[in-house]
Amino acid sequence: MRKRVIKDMMNRKILLRSRPQGWPTDENFEFQEAPLPQPGEGQVLIRAIYLSVDPYMRGRMSAAKSYVEPYRIGEVIEGGGVGEVIESRSDKFQPGDKVLGMLGWQLYGVADADKLRKIDEQTAPLSAYLGVIGMTGLTAYFGLMDIGRPKAGETVVVSGAAGAVGSIVGQIAKIQGARVVGIAGSDDKTAWLTEQLGFDAAINYRTTPNLKDALEKECPQGVDVYFDNVGGDITDAVIGQLNDHARIALCGSISAYNDSEGKDIGPRVLVKLIKTRSLMKGFVLGDYADRLPEGAKMLGQWLSEGKLKYEETVIEGFDRIPEALLELFKGTNIGKMLVKVG
Ligand code: NDP
Repeated sequence: MRKRVIKDMMNRKILLRSRPQGWPTDENFEFQEAPLPQPGEGQVLIRAIYLSVDPYMRGRMSAAKSYVEPYRIGEVIEGGGVGEVIESRSDKFQPGDKVLGMLGWQLYGVADADKLRKIDEQTAPLSAYLGVIGMTGLTAYFGLMDIGRPKAGETVVVSGAAGAVGSIVGQIAKIQGARVVGIAGSDDKTAWLTEQLGFDAAINYRTTPNLKDALEKECPQGVDVYFDNVGGDITDAVIGQLNDHARIALCGSISAYNDSEGKDIGPRVLVKLIKTRSLMKGFVLGDYADRLPEGAKMLGQWLSEGKLKYEETVIEGFDRIPEALLELFKGTNIGKMLVKVG
């Protein structure tokens, strides 16, 4: 009986129809209905519950060479999600199990069992596995602890501070005993950072008349660690404030993701890096694949001790996934942006 119900149901998917020039538009996406896929041996059928939208997806919509393959035209847009196993042809999962994996922008998907992770709702809400104890929390942890290496008493500046990665970076830096200054795009966000998350100061880059002056005021001892999520003018201003032996973790450059290639130019920072003998290092979370358990353990521990707080912006409805992605670039999210589809 149950099988017949499943067979009668239709899947919905969002495919990449064309590569965006500048900001993505509706024209770049195609909604499609299809019968439910059938799991093969060693696979499971999953019903999506939360799907993640992330800034890197904009990069994969372009054909430019990167650390990960571009999305292919006409294929489902790949991305992380959590869902429920509906049908299993693997010993590893039973119907009803909750899983984390690359589910993609679709209501139902088939995945190889060995590419999924079973997750436990008793340990943390399902959505947290995509944020604070998932991809974005782990990115914050490794970028800050491995490249930034903040010491007690040092000053850490984080851009994109009220987002999924940035809000966790600042709190981990506080746990390490640093002075933490966040840069974000609204007064609501700066108030949240200082009043709820314990940042020492926060600067609204949209309303501050002179970012350099604001940084000098909030970082009277200079900047020892800069965790960069946004690039552009904000990063130019922070680099001007570096102390000797500063460390810059280059995590993202969202201010440039919707620009045409080659337009993102700015002051040359090399002399400043030489004079201060600073380290600037790009990274992606995948570099830390063999250390993920360490990051997950620390994030889980701080969360249970009440040392880490997190926020999510949840948009409801499958049809609104492309809109949710665009909202990341407009900055309407506080904390992790997610779409609830199930
Ligand atoms: P966020 O939750 O931080 O959302 C994006 C935020 O970026 C928005 O809320 C907005 O906040 C800010 N923003 C958007 N446009 C601009 C702009 N032009 N200038 C300044 N700020 C802007 O996203 P994530 O936490 O998921 O990602 C943050 C960064 O980390 C991104 O650059 C992403 O690509 C990168 N990343 C890198 C990973 C890696 O492995 N290296 C892994 C995960 C993420 P505001 O209101 O403050 O403008």
